[in-house]
Amino acid sequence: MPYFRWALDVRCPRCGGRAIFDEPYEFVAARKKDPVDGEGLHRWGGWYVREKYPSVLPWRAPRGSSQFLSTGHVQISGGVRLRHRGVVRCAECHRVAVHVLRWPADAYFQWDVRGTRLWATDARHAQVLLHYVESLLRDPWRYPGYRRSLQKLPAVVLAARNRARVARGIRDALRAAGEQLDAQPWLDPPDARPG
Ligand SMILES: [Zn+2]
Repeated sequence: MPYFRWALDVRCPRCGGRAIFDEPYEFVAARKKDPVDGEGLHRWGGWYVREKYPSVLPWRAPRGSSQFLSTGHVQISGGVRLRHRGVVRCAECHRVAVHVLRWPADAYFQWDVRGTRLWATDARHAQVLLHYVESLLRDPWRYPGYRRSLQKLPAVVLAARNRARVARGIRDALRAAGEQLDAQPWLDPPDARPG
């Protein structure tokens, strides 16, 4: 099963359109009896690495003998840092190029709420934010997979006086992106995500 393969909606660095930031490699846990290398596959410690964009960003194993994946903001020697250096694929200008992610500055879905940035990783996350902001209960536990991000929302986003403004901004962005509203966007299974 792929360890980390979902993509982010970002603003294209060239045309400003809606683009995908994708991880360049898929990591699959390898078993001892598996072959060392295969078509487009590289063995890296306990992992198989599949290149998703071999001509744009071919695999080069990090220096050092340790093999691990990190999602933190700091490069740790020996490991592969996810959500850092990847590939941007733009649906509008068709650019496919290496990109070093600046997050959340690169987010395609982002809004300014009285000086505070609100962002979503992708359209489904934006829909979850909309649902949460408009709900009376505002219970993060009702949104599996999104609980922690909802718990961390800044107070200004949730303030009653900003509710209508925030909801309108999210709705407008989703409509402009041609997204259909889903009654329960948090039910999207991870495997249905692009990537
Ligand atoms: Zn573009």
